[in-house]
Amino acid sequence: RFEGSTIFVTGGAGFIGSAVVRHLLRDTHARIVNIDKLTYAANLESIPDAEANPRYAFEKQCICEAASLRKLFEKYQPAAVMNLAAESHVDRSIDGPGEFIQTNIVGTFTLLQEALRYWRGLSPDRRSQFRFLHISTDEVFGSLGKDGYFTETTSYSPNSPYSASKASSDHLVRAWRETYDLPTMVTNCSNNYGPYHFPEKLIPHIIIKGLAGEPLPVYGDGQNIRDWLYVEDHAKALTLVLERGAIGETYNVGGRNERTNLHVVESICDMLDEMSPRTAGPRRGLISFVADRPGHDRRYAIDASKLERELGWRADENFESGLAKTVRWFFDNRNWWQTILDRGYQQKRIGLG
Ligand code: NAD
Repeated sequence: RFEGSTIFVTGGAGFIGSAVVRHLLRDTHARIVNIDKLTYAANLESIPDAEANPRYAFEKQCICEAASLRKLFEKYQPAAVMNLAAESHVDRSIDGPGEFIQTNIVGTFTLLQEALRYWRGLSPDRRSQFRFLHISTDEVFGSLGKDGYFTETTSYSPNSPYSASKASSDHLVRAWRETYDLPTMVTNCSNNYGPYHFPEKLIPHIIIKGLAGEPLPVYGDGQNIRDWLYVEDHAKALTLVLERGAIGETYNVGGRNERTNLHVVESICDMLDEMSPRTAGPRRGLISFVADRPGHDRRYAIDASKLERELGWRADENFESGLAKTVRWFFDNRNWWQTILDRGYQQKRIGLG
């Protein structure tokens, strides 16, 4: 449906956005404009070879700046917008929520306004083809008990400044559809992992510390449960929703991979031990439990059956295969993450996305 037309990917230098850009360049004929402010979380090296691709353009741009966005819409005449630009790290939102309110709420609002203005000026044919896909998180639903799953109709109950800002943005997107008819869709996904994941998040953090033989911190008792989604599976799901999703709908994306944080950390230890055994002994001995994060949600689990049933999506990776690929990627691509560590960033404790 978007073959040969232009897609705006905001946040395309981030973890998931870069996977989306790589996927679109590799598996479609669409032209991609990556719009990214390049915060600490961005890395253009996560889209190797893109600059040489005639179907790719990069624009260093903040989504809170209306006038500049307007020029980009005029210049590129996109057929779709995928909004992945966000402040995304829960721990950072606890320490400094201001940026989260700006980018996640004001930025989404500004992007919606400029998309609406542009969309209204399109010919009827192009107007009916246009889509605005907003990417969000399962954290907007709050925390689950032992049982049950988040579905598309679960009520919102965000607990952190991050999830509250994402919840606000989801509501804005819905309202722009209901009030102004802008053809929007929303996806809410579980915790992503995979290649090019920023080193402060749980899985890369543990891999990098484990390789160095350093202590492996785990929040609380390690029994918090997350539902893990391999980032390449997510990128395919987003493309599918963009192409075939129904206007005004929400789709949950999850890999059916519920694991405790302790299980995740122990699995990484075992995989690293197999690839590169330590003379000092198995890496599980490096695990140490640290004070829990305030307001730490106990369990997230996504019911992705709507996306599977209506659009035929299936995750290619289960947790073990995806984690093995990820550990191998970090093992083989030290340059990528070492450069980020050398560049220095305000290091946080451990991230859980
Ligand atoms: P990320 O932090 O890795 O990347 C975000 C990107 O957005 C960065 O490249 C950054 O430079 C850019 N950005 C930030 N503020 C901007 C602004 N004002 N203008 C333009 N660009 C800006 O995030 P991610 O993990 O790739 O997440 C992408 C989206 O997916 C986010 O909306 C996030 O809430 C959602 N999400 C992520 C996860 C996950 O596990 N990573 C899970 C659920 C939902």
